[in-house]
Amino acid sequence: AALSKKDDVDIKGGWKVGAPVPYAALTKTFAHIEATTKRLEKTAFLTCFLLLVIQRSAKGDAKSLLQAVYLCINRLSPDYIGIELGIGESLLIKAIGESTGRSIAVIKADLQREGDLGLVAMNSKNSQKTLFKPKPLTIPFVFQNLKDIALTSGNSSQAKKVSIITKLLAACQDFEAKYIVRSLEGKLRIGNAERSVLVAIAHAAVLAERERSHKKWSPEKLAARLEEGANIIKAVYSELPSYDEVIPALLEHGIDGIRSHCKLTPGVPLKPMLAKPTKAIGEVLDRFENKRFTCEYKYDGERAQVHKLADGSVAVFSRNSEDMSKKYPDLVEQLPKCIKDSTKSFVLDAEAVAIDRVTGKLMPFQELSRRKRKDVKVEDIQVRVCLFAFDLLYLNGEPLLQQSLFDRRKLLREHFAIVPGEFDFAKSSDSETTEEIQIFLEESVKDGCEGLMVKMLDSDASFYEPSRRSVNWLKLKKDYLAGIGDSLDLVVVGGYYGKGKRTNVYGAFLLACYDSDSEEYQTICKIGTGFSEEALQAHYETLKPLELAKVRGDVKVGGAKPDVWFEPQIVWEVLTADLSLSPVYTAAQGLARTFLFVSSWH
Ligand code: ATP
Repeated sequence: AALSKKDDVDIKGGWKVGAPVPYAALTKTFAHIEATTKRLEKTAFLTCFLLLVIQRSAKGDAKSLLQAVYLCINRLSPDYIGIELGIGESLLIKAIGESTGRSIAVIKADLQREGDLGLVAMNSKNSQKTLFKPKPLTIPFVFQNLKDIALTSGNSSQAKKVSIITKLLAACQDFEAKYIVRSLEGKLRIGNAERSVLVAIAHAAVLAERERSHKKWSPEKLAARLEEGANIIKAVYSELPSYDEVIPALLEHGIDGIRSHCKLTPGVPLKPMLAKPTKAIGEVLDRFENKRFTCEYKYDGERAQVHKLADGSVAVFSRNSEDMSKKYPDLVEQLPKCIKDSTKSFVLDAEAVAIDRVTGKLMPFQELSRRKRKDVKVEDIQVRVCLFAFDLLYLNGEPLLQQSLFDRRKLLREHFAIVPGEFDFAKSSDSETTEEIQIFLEESVKDGCEGLMVKMLDSDASFYEPSRRSVNWLKLKKDYLAGIGDSLDLVVVGGYYGKGKRTNVYGAFLLACYDSDSEEYQTICKIGTGFSEEALQAHYETLKPLELAKVRGDVKVGGAKPDVWFEPQIVWEVLTADLSLSPVYTAAQGLARTFLFVSSWH
């Protein structure tokens, strides 16, 4: 019931059963989603659209729904394959100019005024007089062209990209140019979180099932089925985060059948389980009172999910599911030595840590971050890595997510072998008292770690929870114990001119956090004391070229009034002692009672 009759007719216009999905149907849906701030309404609009895609696809056609879903989340492949959009502004401006006949200077001026290149493209297109209507765009056509653009590389790739974009834009009508340009920029800005897309997929599948059953469902039954469907799809996707697998299985086996067909599979990285911060050992003991738990070293390296497939190949994935096998050829090379013969296929959760091979000392994360991300040659590597395994998620054909950590750890230790300096199990201690934990924490810090991870060991509370920041994993960092909270990654969005000696540089900065659900930068604090003259000069030099005449459309400002705005590109790690509520800044607006504000920082 999300759509009015008129909108419904409008979206279905020109959409024939069995024919490719019109791109206009998707962009009209995007316009509805963008126009509301209510999450439930956003999901309902998307559900209507996906239901139509299911109903109008020919039997056995999973591609239509798959491509529609990818365009809704603005991706072209699963994360680990990493076909990425994110075309630079100047290239897009060039293509808009070429397809509409407007000059670059005029488009740039519009962009300064509007703060949204998608809008500029749409207005440029719609103010253009055309003699005949272009052939309507379809989802398969747009999808393929976006893929071609993303995959174009090498000589004259820029010109090729501009040419494809220009042709696409020439065929755009209504809202299409706005969303094509935003897709190409890498941000749809309609506030469509991936979780809502998963819910919409599930709801559309349930509603399609109801139609097929030709029976009347009571409102209670419908509500229960919708909720159950959403939970099933979310659970399945967190274990197997690949729409390439999930969508065809959903269409073939239905909501009830999908679970047995989509399970954790080596080769497809799952979203890792994360930990909640704690401030004191007392908090750990409160949470785990009367439960069995274990403390492990919290290594200061990079998360590495290591997969061995049944065909013998090995892949290493990052915390964000990127394939890191090319960054860590040494890890891939080292691995066979620590795998016992009985271990045919597996998924390991581990931390890759830089190590000094001579002294055996662990080195900080910065050593790893200096490595190139691709095409690293083993012979060129100066700092080697040691893999510290802390969990086993899959073994010889069986997912282990729903076994206790105690059992998973036992299997891990049975099926792998320590190779000094190359592979080890995360050092652990199943200690129970404050004193024991304190001693183990100090030991971890002395050994070059960040602190401890404290994990539930028994019962279903110790199951592996993909993609969750779970209370069953607590992190106890040495920094917290000194009274300092966690650090925040914040983006510099504005600057304030300095006073006195500092008039030639910015003296203070407006920072924002990024909210990926709403795809916007939300202001969080102004910082301006404690910088050395040199640091202020260096910041000025970095930020000056990023100055904008107008705040970008995706920065949610609130009451802040900086002297200049910046392109949001520079990220600072800010250590906070405390967070308090603010009437000025917009971070967590609607989530916290009012707004969040970093009240003191380092
Ligand atoms: P942080 O910046 O504190 O690492 P985070 O948000 O990246 O935080 P958290 O879940 O909060 O991730 O902390 C766990 C991280 O610590 C893991 O992502 C992993 O990279 C690292 N780690 C190191 N040792 C362990 C361990 N024994 N068990 C789990 N994670 C560990």
